[in-house]
Amino acid sequence: MPDPDCIFCKIVAGELPAELVDEDERTVAFMDISPATRGHALVVPRRHARDLLEIEPDELAATLLAAQRVARRAHERLRADGVNLINSCGRAAWQTVYHFHVHVIPRYAGDPLKLPWVPAPGDEQQIAAAAAELRSAAAPRPC
Ligand code: 5GP
Ligand code: ZN
Repeated sequence: MPDPDCIFCKIVAGELPAELVDEDERTVAFMDISPATRGHALVVPRRHARDLLEIEPDELAATLLAAQRVARRAHERLRADGVNLINSCGRAAWQTVYHFHVHVIPRYAGDPLKLPWVPAPGDEQQIAAAAAELRSAAAPRPC
């Protein structure tokens, strides 16, 4: 069901302009309006889903397959040296548009992008405790 306030639903419907680069039955890919690097694209499911936690598995699979197609094209046609796929789920994770999307960000040797964290060895006990919680069959978190 399209969300009447969702800009990506409007792009999918052709009601807002966008530079489309790929589309199939389930997905549309278009250029990001504020590109991080040359060729930065967004891949979205045609069907509205808020985020990674809500999207249906087959829609997610189709969107990731489309992201792979766009990544391959960035590699072949833009001569990208690498690609980052990024998904932000929730405000704390920087999501700003609440229609699931995958950023396909072509990377070029020496480009200015940086990892958003500084890798450093973590506390082994804390890592193990988090792992135990992830493995546990605890009751679902209330909404
Ligand atoms: P998020 O912050 O949710 O991970 O990503 C949203 C992305 O959508 C941002 O990179 C932003 O530049 C892009 N964006 C926001 N509004 C528009 C728009 O109207 N058209 C296009 N093509 N991209 C948009
Ligand atoms: Zn939408």
